[in-house]
Amino acid sequence: MKLSPFNLYPNLPKKNCKECGEATCLAFAVKLLNRDIELEKCPHLNDEQKSKLRAMFEPPVKEIKFKDYKIGGEEVMHRHELTFHNPPLIVTPNKPSLVFERAGKKMSVELKIEGDTIGGMIRCGKNDFEAAIAKAAGNPIIVRLSSVDEAKQIASKYPSTIAEFSDFKTLKDYRERAIKGEAGCNLPTLFNANDEAEAAYALMRYANIIIINDEKAEFLEPFLYLRQAIFSDPRIPAKVDAQLYVIGHPDKDSPVFVLGNYALTYYTVSGDINSQKINGYLIAFDTEGLSVWTAVAANKFLPGKIKDVLESSRLAEKVKDKVLIIPGFAAPLRGAIEEETGWKVVVGPEDSREIGNFIEEMKKQKE
Ligand code: SF4
Repeated sequence: MKLSPFNLYPNLPKKNCKECGEATCLAFAVKLLNRDIELEKCPHLNDEQKSKLRAMFEPPVKEIKFKDYKIGGEEVMHRHELTFHNPPLIVTPNKPSLVFERAGKKMSVELKIEGDTIGGMIRCGKNDFEAAIAKAAGNPIIVRLSSVDEAKQIASKYPSTIAEFSDFKTLKDYRERAIKGEAGCNLPTLFNANDEAEAAYALMRYANIIIINDEKAEFLEPFLYLRQAIFSDPRIPAKVDAQLYVIGHPDKDSPVFVLGNYALTYYTVSGDINSQKINGYLIAFDTEGLSVWTAVAANKFLPGKIKDVLESSRLAEKVKDKVLIIPGFAAPLRGAIEEETGWKVVVGPEDSREIGNFIEEMKKQKE
């Protein structure tokens, strides 16, 4: 049975007292289900009610908390069925200090192997499991296993166990059985990947921690981008605030670029403008988080929304010429934007890497 807030509601105090910060107990149930609030926020739940509720929405893959990390906790096999919650941690032998940035987020390898531990978690063979429990002090234990049956045998022995597999087929089988609710298959998994392709497959739905030996930027950069893309919530548009952004140190002669407020477009275009050493203004207006191409097709590239940002930012007072540069993909809307805003509209390139050349060309034509 798919769980809904109405299944949780009968087990809540039904006082609607707002002490949890929510207007009603039903609103609290909705947030509980989405994992946006902790049970502890309701002071009126007794221990029995808490354990009943926990049992109701415990995910098929157990979630283990360790330091600042949440490991496991997944509920579905494919992201589009709901969402994925906790990005897999990446482990390499030396944890290189490389940092990559995409859509405003910094990304790097999290952990390294240190003797018989990984980031402070004990790592052992199945024969050493009992001895590891004795010294783990409640911290997670990673156990090397070679079959699903081995994992099932140890699953209930220690609450913070992570199953390590080196065979991709076994890893896949174990996770598929977990999502179907098979007993003993609920442990978060660590995958010791043999190559980059296996690591990528494991990242996409099967493993919660991945060991990979490749520490080159050429591999890690796209690998971490892949993780970011898959572990973004498809229910929440990735958007930036609809407003005027300042790039560099613009003056009265600086260009004004127009974009929707899809985060990836914003960070890509602002990064390209910056790297081409252009000082300017960037209007990211409200397209409900849609990219330019999609917003134009879905009738969400609305001139009135551009006008809203022009007015709220009083941009007309900051520049000499009232000229907007719109993305090439929005060319069909040029006339409508001019009519609505009263600004002259110039169609820019489709690819923001061409903005530097485009601005040079504009300057020449002006001279
Ligand atoms: Fe309901 Fe508890 Fe929230 Fe009060 S604090 S509204 S009883 S969930």
